[in-house]
Amino acid sequence: MKMVLMSVRARWLGVLGCLVPLLAVAGCVTVRPAHTIERSQSGQLSIVAAFYPLQFVAQRIAGNQATVTNLTQPGAEPHDLELTPRQVASLTTASLVIYQKGFQAAVDEAVTQSENPDVIDTTTVVPLRPLASTGGDLDHGDRPERDHSDLDPHVWLDPTAVSRIARAVAQRLSTIDPTHAADYERNADTLIKDLDDLDRSFNSGLANCVRTEFMTTHAAFGYLAGRYHLRQIAISGLSPDLEPSPARIAEVQHQAQATGITTIFSETLVSPAVAQAIAGDLGLVTDVLDPVEGITRQSRGHDYLSVMSANLAALRKAGQCS
Ligand SMILES: [Zn+2]
Repeated sequence: MKMVLMSVRARWLGVLGCLVPLLAVAGCVTVRPAHTIERSQSGQLSIVAAFYPLQFVAQRIAGNQATVTNLTQPGAEPHDLELTPRQVASLTTASLVIYQKGFQAAVDEAVTQSENPDVIDTTTVVPLRPLASTGGDLDHGDRPERDHSDLDPHVWLDPTAVSRIARAVAQRLSTIDPTHAADYERNADTLIKDLDDLDRSFNSGLANCVRTEFMTTHAAFGYLAGRYHLRQIAISGLSPDLEPSPARIAEVQHQAQATGITTIFSETLVSPAVAQAIAGDLGLVTDVLDPVEGITRQSRGHDYLSVMSANLAALRKAGQCS
């Protein structure tokens, strides 16, 4: 059972404005009702996050003060998200919506429809870079229609980007719910410290490696590669239902031989069949590099931090880092 509390926000000023006799009447006609905020009976806020890393941040910052809902079900590919009518409706009443504009078309549309003023578009906090500049231009070639134009969306694989998003979430929650502002800021400090530790372990763990190239099926790791001076080689046009061309296989084999790569990475949410087939031909091994687009039973960790630590271990093994 939820009760709806009216929120005090700027829009009320517009309503109050109508009480001022001198104000033009026409100006009042367009005033929409104030955004209503749903709180559970325990007084919790409701936060809607578009996909897992944003859910993780929201939960860490809000703590017990909010229930956090993820629009992308665990195990689903966030790129291809479709929303139920109930999910679309949930954006209207949410205390805060956190999403990444340009990544999930269904969410972009639902956010616009909701007219909810309490929204964080993370691209205003961490601008996205073109795929070409993050080394990801070889991937996503098999799904140009439903993907994210020419910008690389996988910014959360750089822990320092997640820190910036965490701070923005804390600041916004403090505005929405000033009573608990100190809690939000303190939670942000703790999370950012964890992310700094993770960043440091990536820096030191990848500082001395036999090779800095790594080969993936899904070009999700451009921001990670850029941050830690690695080079991602993404196998073009590969998806579970799409056979790579003989020319691309030959090219991949050549790149593997030229760089001395011994590992081809696949990921948790996508079948490793193609990576295994190519690795088998080359006499290579396969391993998992997780783009942290969702936590499932197959994940090598229970949250963003532990899955990223598993990624670091996999990269160190593949790169023969000391
Ligand atoms: Zn992706």
